[in-house]
Amino acid sequence: MGGVGDSLLDDASGRLDEALRYARVSEDALERLRYPKSTLKVSIPVRMDDGSLRTFRGYRVRYDDSRGPTKGGIRFHPNVNVDEVSTLAFWMTIKCAVLDLPFGGAKGGITVDPKQLSKLELERLSRGYIDAVADFIGPDVDVPAPDVYTNALIMGWMMDEYSIIRRAHVPAVITGKPLPMGGSRGRDTATADGGFDVIEALRGKLIPADRPTAAVQGFGNVGATIALLLHEAGYRVVAVSDSQGAIFCGGGLHIPTVKKIKEESRHLEAAYCHGSVGDLANHDRLSNEELLSLDVDVLVPAALENAITEANAETIRAPVILELANGPVSSAADRALARRGVTVIPDVLANAGGVTVSYFEWAQNRTGLYWSAQKVRERLRERMVGEALALWDFAAEHGIPLRTAAYAQALTRIGEAADAKGRKEFYTSA
Ligand code: NAD
Repeated sequence: MGGVGDSLLDDASGRLDEALRYARVSEDALERLRYPKSTLKVSIPVRMDDGSLRTFRGYRVRYDDSRGPTKGGIRFHPNVNVDEVSTLAFWMTIKCAVLDLPFGGAKGGITVDPKQLSKLELERLSRGYIDAVADFIGPDVDVPAPDVYTNALIMGWMMDEYSIIRRAHVPAVITGKPLPMGGSRGRDTATADGGFDVIEALRGKLIPADRPTAAVQGFGNVGATIALLLHEAGYRVVAVSDSQGAIFCGGGLHIPTVKKIKEESRHLEAAYCHGSVGDLANHDRLSNEELLSLDVDVLVPAALENAITEANAETIRAPVILELANGPVSSAADRALARRGVTVIPDVLANAGGVTVSYFEWAQNRTGLYWSAQKVRERLRERMVGEALALWDFAAEHGIPLRTAAYAQALTRIGEAADAKGRKEFYTSA
């Protein structure tokens, strides 16, 4: 096992052990969760633009389907390997159960650096992947979605290829599609929207300030959208960063301007504090490490995994961390932060808005009835707020971190579904 997969797997299983003490889950259900339900390894031959043939390795892992068809993204990345995909599939099993979605968990990926491919090569690879996994997926079986370096365009090609194979229009086989191909309104901003709903639901319990301050690490799809939502809701977003570095403004950055400049120039560095909005003084640029240790009310990691580890956990001064990235806080850091009373709103809750609207997309595809942006937004808010408040109460009742509460809740739900088919006590009682 190599790369990211190791740490993710270690983290996932360590956190599971902790949560088990608070979950109502039978031995039988746990036995089912020990290994992925099924793992498919494929090779995908692709005709390259220069006429040569190249073979890529691809994977699809369905971890557990006790609660419904499995659901999870497809990642295109040079580090993709079967262990990483399995771990992420396990993670999706938990996330879907935290939000009470009628899905199990899965994940897929291709070991490739997509930036090295032409657009036509990328299309042939995406269609080739679907040709290879077509018998393994389906609207009632396993429903993929975008993940790292895959997007709506790729989902569209994949849905089209599956429909060609099945000789039928099958939009519900995949989510995160372009709108004209059966995508859902609100899917593009769903992850940040859901994270915003969670922080707003818990705001009265966590943040005393009237005009709270926030710092956002990562200014991509998720980070830029949450920064804008917080700004519009009256937070002072004092710092944001991308892979090149961070910008800071004590009076609050004017996020619509920062976003516009970033979109035009593609560099956050080009953005400066806007006119009268704040006092730049000498603090207009920060390193990424400095952003993480700012004294703000809410810190939002929205970039990559393992941003906060044992090495920098002691430098974190924010009392609340909203995890919009997947796995931005390692388990060792989690323990250090908990000792210091920092509240971590875990990824399996905070960034589950994306998979929740994917569920809405699947439901719309299956009924053929399409919802307005407002209806999607209301249904997302209802679900995010409901689950956030329930987890808050559960965590408070047991005096445990929200992450442990989320894992315990998910394990209980998965266990109930698995046990509904019968458990040891039933078969061994007279
Ligand atoms: P993205 O590629 O659009 O944005 C990532 C951003 O992080 C970019 O601005 C990049 O410059 C920045 N970045 C990279 N390294 C950095 C560093 N060291 N310091 C600061 N910034 C850095 O990706 P995204 O879709 O916004 O996803 C961000 C995170 O959210 C990922 O962890 C992803 O798994 C998670 N997530 C995304 C979704 C979704 O719907 N897009 C859903 C759930 C979780």
